[in-house]
Amino acid sequence: MTAEIISGKQTAKEWRARLKVEADELKSKGVVPCLTVIMVGDDPASLSYIKGKIKGCAEVGLRSELKRFPASMQEAELLEVIEQCNADEEIDGILVQLPLPPHISEQKVIETIRPDKDVDGFHPINIGRMVAGEEALISCTPQGIIQLLKAKDIAIEGKHAVVVGRSNIVGKPVGLLLLKENATVTYCHSKTPDLSTFTRTADILIVAAGRAGLIGADDVKEGAAVIDVGVNRTEDGRLVGDVRFEEVKEKAAYLTPVPGGVGPMTITMLLANTIKAAKKRRGLL
Ligand code: NAD
Repeated sequence: MTAEIISGKQTAKEWRARLKVEADELKSKGVVPCLTVIMVGDDPASLSYIKGKIKGCAEVGLRSELKRFPASMQEAELLEVIEQCNADEEIDGILVQLPLPPHISEQKVIETIRPDKDVDGFHPINIGRMVAGEEALISCTPQGIIQLLKAKDIAIEGKHAVVVGRSNIVGKPVGLLLLKENATVTYCHSKTPDLSTFTRTADILIVAAGRAGLIGADDVKEGAAVIDVGVNRTEDGRLVGDVRFEEVKEKAAYLTPVPGGVGPMTITMLLANTIKAAKKRRGLL
């Protein structure tokens, strides 16, 4: 079997066209949602991610602003900036780019953001609501993965989904979202013995370990849908996923590439969350 390659770029493009229509409708009511991105330090990878987010906002007609601070910024100062953004009626979404310098507690920062402006979906209130299956701002990568599966009409209900990775930003939430869609979910992680025993039983395999080439054809069931979340840089500077693309493509039914798979959907879901937050806060949802 040769897998159908799931283009995140294409699905993201279709989503962004729909989001632009929503943003235009809001504009006609005098509302232009605004995303505020806060960056501490000058990590080039973070800056490149932020540029993608700001470009995405412009593409669908949202406002964005970048607040940049030096790596020497103190935690209390950052919390004060967040409080100002919380109180600012013009700001709909607040995103603090992670990672932060080690002297700043990421958890404190996340918990200071107003849950209804928490477009990254990292605040414990949003996580708790998601766990309970309630309405929430859901973190972007897991949401993007579900939307990729839906865009390809890949059945989730009743299927066995195996998630490799249990981080708070990808593995754990994507497993919960799959459960909400009525999959039977198995979590695997770095302490799982004989990983392949589990991955080979997956109808839907989500790989988010950050280990280049972790999953090969022998680890995948014939006809599975394989979503490769991993982003790893090789010694010669290329970006590769956690899945050995060339071999798995001959066995899976669906496979996402890296780059061009999950990545474009992550930013798109951030744009969707910003519009949702703007509507919700104004009672338009
Ligand atoms: P993380 O390091 O926080 O978590 C990795 C998880 O993988 C852990 O739970 C760990 O137990 C598990 N793991 C590690 N090695 C393993 C192994 N050999 N076998 C089984 N499990 C193993 O990483 P993260 O933040 O969840 O990100 C995971 C990957 O996804 C990274 O490559 C990251 O760059 C990428 N990512 C991509 C996007 C995107 O938009 N494309 C977004 C977020 C993360």
